[in-house]
Amino acid sequence: MLAAAAQEQDGRGGSWRCRSGTHTPDDNLPAMSTDTAAKQLWICSSCGFIYDPDEGDPDGGIPSGTNFDDIPDTWFCPVCGARKADFEPLNG
Ligand SMILES: [Zn+2]
Repeated sequence: MLAAAAQEQDGRGGSWRCRSGTHTPDDNLPAMSTDTAAKQLWICSSCGFIYDPDEGDPDGGIPSGTNFDDIPDTWFCPVCGARKADFEPLNG
């Protein structure tokens, strides 16, 4: 019974993949993973806010694409107001 259900799903996916030619969704995965591996996130030790260089902090005058190291020391956590020094690198 379980095998029959699985076969139905495989049949649908297989025919769809045949029509779409050589393109598979998997093609996009490697590029995205290298992108995320290169960037360093920082977390506010006070409130847990995570600074993402890709997003920056537009409300705080930090344009998207700004590395944490390039943020001026006068910048504060947009959530709790902690200083830049209170942020820690987020690993893993
Ligand atoms: Zn904070």
